[in-house]
Amino acid sequence: MMVKKVLVVGGGIGGQSVAIALRQAGVEVDINEIQSEYNVYGVGIIQQANALRALDAIGVAEEAMRRGSPYPMVKLCLAHGHQIGSAGTPPIGKFPSHNGISRRTLHDILFEKCQEVGVNYRMGYTVDSLFDNGEQVEIGFSNGEKASYDLVIGADGIHSKIRGMLFGEFKPQYVGLSVWRYPLKRPENLDTGYIYFGKKSKVGVIPMSEDSIYIFLNSAEGADNPIIPEDELVPRLKAYMQEFPNPMVQGLIDQIVDPALVNYRPLEVLKLPAPWHKGRVVIIGDAAHATIPQLGSGAALAIEDAVVLVEELQKNESPQQAFENFMERRFNRCMMVVEASETLGQWEVLEYSGQALPEGANMGALMGKTTMALTQDI
Ligand SMILES: Cc1cc2nc3c(=O)[nH]c(=O)nc-3n(C[C@H](O)[C@H](O)[C@H](O)COP(=O)(O)OP(=O)(O)OC[C@H]3O[C@@H](n4cnc5c(N)ncnc54)[C@H](O)[C@@H]3O)c2cc1C
Repeated sequence: MMVKKVLVVGGGIGGQSVAIALRQAGVEVDINEIQSEYNVYGVGIIQQANALRALDAIGVAEEAMRRGSPYPMVKLCLAHGHQIGSAGTPPIGKFPSHNGISRRTLHDILFEKCQEVGVNYRMGYTVDSLFDNGEQVEIGFSNGEKASYDLVIGADGIHSKIRGMLFGEFKPQYVGLSVWRYPLKRPENLDTGYIYFGKKSKVGVIPMSEDSIYIFLNSAEGADNPIIPEDELVPRLKAYMQEFPNPMVQGLIDQIVDPALVNYRPLEVLKLPAPWHKGRVVIIGDAAHATIPQLGSGAALAIEDAVVLVEELQKNESPQQAFENFMERRFNRCMMVVEASETLGQWEVLEYSGQALPEGANMGALMGKTTMALTQDI
């Protein structure tokens, strides 16, 4: 491998995945994470078969399935419970259509693997200066330390500082939708994931482990993106759920009691134009392409970025060529997900505000087409 020492800025899903892949290729890796300790919230994340395939490339897919909850296609239902379709893809090899897992657990799995393969962590501070001298990138950290690296990877999320240092300011765009999430005990009869479509919101019931699930509920809170006071979180979420008179959703409402467990979040999108690299620095994950979660694929893309980037760094003699090949393999695929998710989001905003959808709008068909495209090799 032409590079010997790499700095990964951001120790989230993408950052830890790329650090593992680099260590497995024999590269020395520092992760610089701004938080002094991780505090990942306890709701779940959906991993589709392509996410598992990418996790397998760094050796953690089996563990993610063991500590998560594999499940087949998601049942798409009307508010009363009548099933109208299903979402997801057929299995890819040994990987099921979906694996639901707590974000905390996924994070722990990646962190444990980083320890096992010998990633160094620089926690609790960030990068203050970055100078690419053509041979190395000289970094000044906010704690006063300095270090030089062959490459720097910006995996510091939607508000990426590294992206700003390279390309100037790109602001995430609020799409008019918010998501409410809450972890719950798993109902005994839950056989797979469910999404129920209402007129004011949609709610998903997603397995997370043998005994836990989480729900997500999408709503349109308006163009002014209001702040919801803490004492309104539980009553508002429960009020939205009244739109779904099926036994599954109704059976969960009483468990929603703790405002501290309501994870409320306005949804934002960010598309960094190509190229996502300059000199010896490259941007991956949400820092380059943050999607709203309508297709449950943002983290999958970040993990795939990690796998593809390290493959290209191994195959090519120059970082420039590796980065160009990386862009070739990643740009259209990532934009396909971000843009299809945006379209689904726009249709949801219209639906929840009582407006007509454009002619031919078909959420199930767009979800199916995009997720099937994601099964193609990366
Ligand atoms: C509501 C919601 C639901 C979602 N559900 C799904 C899903 O079901 N399935 C799916 O695949 N994806 C889902 N996603 C998307 C997924 O969460 C993201 O795509 C994924 O977390 C991106 O990983 P990342 O490593 O690029 O960024 P992040 O996870 O944001 O990690 C960035 C890391 O960088 C650190 N950092 C930030 N700034 C600095 C700095 N200046 N210096 C050093 N470190 C810094 C942060 O603390 C963080 O640890 C969802 C997203 C949202 C918003």
